[in-house]
Amino acid sequence: MGIIDNQKSTLSIPEMYSGEGYGLTRLDKVVGLARANSIWPLPFATSCCGIEFMATMASTYDLGRFGAERLSFSPRQADLLMVMGTIAKKMGPILKQIYVQMAEPKWVIAVGACASSGGIFDTYSVLQGIDKVIPVDVYVPGCPPPPEAILDGILKIQELMKTESIGRRHSPEYLKLLESYGID
Ligand code: SF4
Repeated sequence: MGIIDNQKSTLSIPEMYSGEGYGLTRLDKVVGLARANSIWPLPFATSCCGIEFMATMASTYDLGRFGAERLSFSPRQADLLMVMGTIAKKMGPILKQIYVQMAEPKWVIAVGACASSGGIFDTYSVLQGIDKVIPVDVYVPGCPPPPEAILDGILKIQELMKTESIGRRHSPEYLKLLESYGID
């Protein structure tokens, strides 16, 4: 019986006790591992940051290496909403509708200065950050953020996915967070 050495594995296997023909670990660790390595992103790209995302998907950076190569343009088959670009206030309700249509568990990355804070567009028509309408898990800085920064955001989301408890989505804190955004 021994503990598997995570450092030698390319995929970080959860800590477990193992012996010949068996391994014992916690259910939430296995679920987290599966979630983190099979992300289905929904790219919501409205302007230049979207071009950086295209580069992130292409062969040099290859987001598929992280198990996130299956993009979804239907919110019902996506678990990671990636918002990239300037979001006009008129788009706010549409963005929120897409978020609501995604099944739980779901995560959100604000990619770039515009999605995170409105960026340089401190104007009457631009939403000053998508967290005005939906909860955000990870913010990626930059104008534009290079593919390396977007990949770093994905790695941070993977860490969240791996460590999130199975019951979090039913916790009073999470329901309260949704309620603060007017989401049932
Ligand atoms: S953050 Fe910069 S690069 Fe990204 S959408 Fe805004 S202006 Fe364009």
